[in-house]
Amino acid sequence: MFEKLERRIIFSGKIEAVTPLHIGSGKPEVEIGEVDMPVLTDPNGQPYIPGSSLKGRVRAEAERIAREEGLTVCKPPDVRNMCGSLKDNIEDFCICCRIFGTAGNISIASKVKFRDAYPAEKIGTLLERTGIAIDREKGTVSKHALYTIQAVPAGTKFSLEIVAENLADDELKLLLAALKSVEDSALGGSSTRGFGKVKFNIENVRERTAKYYLGEGEEKVFTGESLKEWLKEKGGF
Ligand SMILES: [Zn+2]
Repeated sequence: MFEKLERRIIFSGKIEAVTPLHIGSGKPEVEIGEVDMPVLTDPNGQPYIPGSSLKGRVRAEAERIAREEGLTVCKPPDVRNMCGSLKDNIEDFCICCRIFGTAGNISIASKVKFRDAYPAEKIGTLLERTGIAIDREKGTVSKHALYTIQAVPAGTKFSLEIVAENLADDELKLLLAALKSVEDSALGGSSTRGFGKVKFNIENVRERTAKYYLGEGEEKVFTGESLKEWLKEKGGF
């Protein structure tokens, strides 16, 4: 489907934790009796945000926006409910599968890659907050219900790199809208206590074509005012 490299767009910048950010290791958010919910760390012990977490949140927001726009969108993450299982032709795939990929009888790769996001500067101390787990069925506090949740402090900045290939105009517009929408919702755990508000500070955008890689053409770089113009033109930012 995208055997040609028509246009690659590279977004670079920072993800800023506006409020404390808890990216866990994928365990359920609150388990009764859980005393410690550590943040996910790399082998050097530094917290990071996996590209897959970013992608998951951005895709979920893209789906909600597309539905609001009256588009039919399939229902991940169960592969049986995704276009790759439900449709016979790639042309019929929903806009979110076209952007972010699908598995199934027909699988297509994501046109957008989210790199793992590492701290721009070494993080010293992590926050630890204690909470009380409520038994949702009984509405009571159960025994052993105290838990400690770890988070990176507000103000922490992570590297941001998103690489998008061959996006159609409407796909690029939806991607940009979804990024904005994630900023107004949350990333990671404990959003009900205000965790996970983030800001995507895009510092520059590079557009590269096959000619660029062949040394026959220049890349286009947008930053500052030209970046503002670019975002406005592509996404109505
Ligand atoms: Zn789909």
